[in-house]
Amino acid sequence: MRRNEEVALLLENIAELLMLKNENPYRIRAYTTAAQNIRALDVDIEELARQGRLDEIPGVGKALAAKIEEYLQTGKLQYYEELKREVPIQAVDLLEVPGIGPARAHLLYEKLGITTIQELLQAAQEHKLRDLPGFGEKLEERIAREAARLMQRTKRLLLGIALPVAEDVVAALRGIPAVKAIDPAGSLRRMKETIGDIDILVGTDDPEAVVDAFIHLPIVKEVLAVGPTRPSILTREDLQVDLRVVAPDEYGSALLYFTGSKEHNIALRTYVQERGWKLSEYGLFDENGTRLASRTEEEIYRLLDMDWIPPELRENRGEIQAAREHRLPKLVEQQEIRGDLHAHTDWSDGHDSLERMVQAAIARGYEYLVISDHSPSLTVARGLTVERLRAQRELIREVNERVAPFRILQGAEVNIQSDGTLDYPDEVLAELDVVIVSVHSAFDMPIERMTERVIRALANPHVDILGHPTGRLLNSRLPYEIDLDAVLDAAAEYGVAIEVNGQPDRLDLPDIWVQRAITRGIMIACTSDAHSTRQLENMRWSVATARRGWAEARHILNTRPLPELLDWLATHRERSRGASRRTP
Ligand SMILES: [Zn+2]
Ligand SMILES: [Zn+2]
Repeated sequence: MRRNEEVALLLENIAELLMLKNENPYRIRAYTTAAQNIRALDVDIEELARQGRLDEIPGVGKALAAKIEEYLQTGKLQYYEELKREVPIQAVDLLEVPGIGPARAHLLYEKLGITTIQELLQAAQEHKLRDLPGFGEKLEERIAREAARLMQRTKRLLLGIALPVAEDVVAALRGIPAVKAIDPAGSLRRMKETIGDIDILVGTDDPEAVVDAFIHLPIVKEVLAVGPTRPSILTREDLQVDLRVVAPDEYGSALLYFTGSKEHNIALRTYVQERGWKLSEYGLFDENGTRLASRTEEEIYRLLDMDWIPPELRENRGEIQAAREHRLPKLVEQQEIRGDLHAHTDWSDGHDSLERMVQAAIARGYEYLVISDHSPSLTVARGLTVERLRAQRELIREVNERVAPFRILQGAEVNIQSDGTLDYPDEVLAELDVVIVSVHSAFDMPIERMTERVIRALANPHVDILGHPTGRLLNSRLPYEIDLDAVLDAAAEYGVAIEVNGQPDRLDLPDIWVQRAITRGIMIACTSDAHSTRQLENMRWSVATARRGWAEARHILNTRPLPELLDWLATHRERSRGASRRTP
């Protein structure tokens, strides 16, 4: 019933905003009354909305019912957003904190200059709120708690953390006889780089058995809601997992609906409406309201004369058109990856020995592994001097004899210095099988200089791959300022491949740029950037990101068998080096 409380607070905020606008008291009263009645409900407001019965709530007329429905469906209310713009409150972010309405937000700004949730949390922890008129100790405590929760929530969850948790839940529930179908849904199923909440969809005729099993899973720390259609738990790692329970014969339409994206769903519904049909989470219906399909996604897409669209593409970036014209890409699969092009060992900042990394790569079924330890100027990562680099080559030569036909290639992840020169002299680069170049220092640069710096590095004829091209760290560091279009143009010109780094907080190159790279004919290097044997698994996130960028196997360098990879490494420069080669 947490959504009931959410809606009640929303209506109260609207009332307060109307008050600040000196609106008609009758209108204001209508919102506060509706809020009280919603709070008093003993049923889930979402349930009522699904049944189209919102206007049965006392004090909720047709117009208000529509507003509530909009909010429940989209998480936003246009009217409220407009009101917030009309009524100038500086501290508009604070309204997200339950217990703070417009009047209190205004007061917090006036008296303490607070405009952000972080400042609010700090003030509450320093007991600065309790003496404000109308606050007091209890409210201060509540605000501190809610603000802390919100701060946590605004950090979005990394795909690489959320998906394994969801998969554990799916695996645990799949064994229950009542579960007819189960999948992670939402942005998780679309393999988006970060996730809001973990949503899992279940098809069953026996919701009670499923809910009961769900709330008793060993990972559960706290049960947040036990409703028959939408139970919710908190895991031991404090991750919220929501289960959506639907009937098996509505599973396909529900999966389509709950996978999203919202943009994809809207575009799909518009297309459906053009035919005079209707699509909802309950199915695809014709003009007479007869249900045409609902059991599987495939049926629904097929009836719309479309190919089934892989979830990774459902972002309304042209996939609907492509599905209608039967020209969706055949997305790269993880099994098509034949080796890893970026891995570290304990020669630099890796955790495991070269031999162990090689054994782990062999165990994954790879044909080759590029060992790419850091170059000397990255002293924090114990970058390799030229002498140590050559000593490592000796070791690689020895190990290669033992592990043939598997092949270790010696690479290096070479720093791009702030002037765009590289961290090893050219004759040393020439001895390496693979040269990856990356920015690891001096991130704060005007965009022109950063762009020039990277392009200068790409112009070096020994360079094969540009590593993590934006430098972003999800949730902690923004990408550095760089003209990526210009960088991609240069990569295309010089025949340099671009990395999609699979570290869960990097996923760099980001998905939309993958698409722009492959349309320029640039090869993509899917890599784990593993710093331990376990992290070779990061390849999964790299491939997912490439798939979201519409990449097929032919676009990915390391789907090539070893001889073809070696051939590419030997010749990629000559092939792309045209007459128009420029020097930056
Ligand atoms: Zn790096
Ligand atoms: Zn690295």
